[in-house]
Amino acid sequence: MTHPKAWIEVRREGVWCKAGDFYIDPMQPVARAVVTHSHADHARAGHGAVYATAETLAIMRARYGDDHAGQEHPLAYGEGTEIGGVRVSLHPAGHILGSAQARLEHDGASIVFSGDYKRREDPTCAPFEPVPCDVFVTEATFALPVFRHPPIEGEVARLLGSLQQFPERCHLVGVYALGKCQRLIMALRAAGYDEAIYVHGAMVRLCELYEAYMPLGPLAVVTPENAKGLAGRIVLCPPSALQDRWSRKLPDVLTAAASGWMRIRARAKQKGVELPLVISDHADWDELVQTLHDVAAPEVWVTHGRDDALVYAAQQMGFKAQALHLLGYEDDSE
Ligand SMILES: [Zn+2]
Ligand SMILES: [Zn+2]
Repeated sequence: MTHPKAWIEVRREGVWCKAGDFYIDPMQPVARAVVTHSHADHARAGHGAVYATAETLAIMRARYGDDHAGQEHPLAYGEGTEIGGVRVSLHPAGHILGSAQARLEHDGASIVFSGDYKRREDPTCAPFEPVPCDVFVTEATFALPVFRHPPIEGEVARLLGSLQQFPERCHLVGVYALGKCQRLIMALRAAGYDEAIYVHGAMVRLCELYEAYMPLGPLAVVTPENAKGLAGRIVLCPPSALQDRWSRKLPDVLTAAASGWMRIRARAKQKGVELPLVISDHADWDELVQTLHDVAAPEVWVTHGRDDALVYAAQQMGFKAQALHLLGYEDDSE
């Protein structure tokens, strides 16, 4: 058996599997990439070959065009393939549609890269599966005990309650266009909201793509013509559009935002958010700790986020743990 530290290296391009000569979620174009999911800080255009789930590849085509990569290698969850002598398989991560953990096995040892993940129920994607391995590489976006995400049902009830209380105000909600947008729509539908939900033009393509997998109910695009008539409606836009000119056409806007960062009241205030909704597609502190327990890998590497607290927690649980410093992953817009 050869320990993964002998065949995994962090390079400028990203995490490199030396044994198979491929990268996981590289930041720069490479010959062979395994892509965990289609968020822009993990999936880039211009690779020679991309190994990913069919859903991730479909989203990459929608965002970057059909020629985003030289070759596509779709992998179903649990299906294995060989890349340069390394056994690679993808397993559900519960983060967004198509999101996966990547398991690599070489010379009797295995390592799992979680990508981004969460443990909450989410009807837009397959639930996270703990995958046994020798080394578990976990994200740490919300790895501080202060981050405890409340149930999504309660946050959605607060949004609908506000709409009832202020029926003349346009409820504008900042959501990440890929994943969060569609999850919030599904949660509104589950809460019985069956009115048309209005979306910013930047969200149309991704909503259409999701609709091939699940019904999102009646959606409409905000246009210069209909904008003035959206009092009492729910409008979803990218977080960057909350404060820009685009939103000024809407009547009596009540600004909301759905993000794990909304737990930090100062951040909500600074962004001018009146109704902060704590809805995240990342694991919170309890989910991270629970996942270390469920995966039960003897060794844990912690990436992109607040790694100190989780490294310490893993060590307290009896695991070997260290930070794996990667550049470029920042889920700020989450
Ligand atoms: Zn992500
Ligand atoms: Zn990420």
